Amino acid sequence: MSELLARHRAVMPNWVALYYDQPIEIVSGKGNHVVDAEGNSYLDFFAGILTNMIGYDVAEVREAVERQIATGVVHTSTVYLLRGQVELAEKIARLSGIPDAKVFFTNSGTEANEAALLLATYARRSNQVLAMRQSYHGKSFGATAVTSNRAWKNNGYSPFTTNFLHGADRHLPQFARLSDSDYVKVCVEDLRHVLATATGGDVAALIAEPIQGVGGFTMAPDGLFAAYKEVLDEHGILFIADEVQTGWGRTGQSFFGIQNHDVVPDAMTFAKGLGNGYAVGGVVARGDLMDAPHAIGLATFGGNPISMAAANATLDYVLDHDLQANAAHTGRIIIEGLREAAGDLPFVGDVRGKGLMFAIELVDAETGTPAPALAAKMMEETKRRGLLGGKGGLYGNVMRMAPPLTLTEAEAREGLAILVDSLKALA
Ligand code: PMP
Repeated sequence: MSELLARHRAVMPNWVALYYDQPIEIVSGKGNHVVDAEGNSYLDFFAGILTNMIGYDVAEVREAVERQIATGVVHTSTVYLLRGQVELAEKIARLSGIPDAKVFFTNSGTEANEAALLLATYARRSNQVLAMRQSYHGKSFGATAVTSNRAWKNNGYSPFTTNFLHGADRHLPQFARLSDSDYVKVCVEDLRHVLATATGGDVAALIAEPIQGVGGFTMAPDGLFAAYKEVLDEHGILFIADEVQTGWGRTGQSFFGIQNHDVVPDAMTFAKGLGNGYAVGGVVARGDLMDAPHAIGLATFGGNPISMAAANATLDYVLDHDLQANAAHTGRIIIEGLREAAGDLPFVGDVRGKGLMFAIELVDAETGTPAPALAAKMMEETKRRGLLGGKGGLYGNVMRMAPPLTLTEAEAREGLAILVDSLKALA
């Protein structure tokens, strides 16, 4: 055990999960690579955990933050005007596609979801909520209550009554043989049944990830969210899209993940990559919801000037360099390459993804059941070859990856080769 790992174990809680048999300490980063304390360089296919959306040591972000620090004005207070907040809110409101959108900033995705749920439950005067099976929305009291992925859920105590909907569980035997459109029909019937029989009166909101992150990048089929939205609208139930992983062009197809489904949500939450390493999150919602009394201001440092400088620079960079198109292009190379390789490898249960958000599901070659040990081995094989990725899925049998949106075509091919070699080494 390394000296730092021993100290970590002594003073950090034992539930903090560390990746890899020999956990690594990242000490620096440049471009889409990071370097550990032993001098090993890695192509970062996890971008922190989707935090370093445009890679490491980006001059535009560093200079924006340095300019902010140089002003000496580094404190936050929403009792004064903060230019960085207004500028960023204008951009996000415009990009959201939500009519008359208004924006509020937090420090994290968890806080953003907490704020959106407060907003919705207050607006609807109801603590009844809907969420998706296998979901993950954070670990605060409220966010836990809408999280169903047991591996990531800290407890079952809840300020809400939550019903969990189908939509991302095609693998279950009762759904496996259904066509997409039949599956959508079954899910919608189930939603209607839940609303008619399982909720204590009016329901405030549905919260859903357009692509489930820690769930292993599971995706609802086309048409599902639009069909849900129709039913929700009949009842005045709000739709909150959790874009913490899927926002900012990552899926290639559209700027926010829910836009891939032709749904205009009532609110979206965001965090992670927007600050490119600096803490930022927030909610963008219909103005009438956002303006409801009982302010949802959650945290002193939400939208602080340093994070706003970083986030404005990061978002400008994404737009100026059309990184959404880059995500579509480089993601396609990797996903198609992985699918081709998977043809000969019976323990690859699935290759799925959109843009620069893709995953490899590992299963027992004979029984098709989840194989978490293979996923752990895959993580070690890729690390040994100089690539970092993430783990996920209900059974921990999915290797999920979300490189910086700045990934070059050469890096995409290099990463693909490492992944294919590592898969072959598992055979
Ligand atoms: N929502 C989703 C979809 C997430 O993936 C995460 C973090 N993994 C969160 C919310 C929570 O965000 P944070 O860790 O910034 O609180």
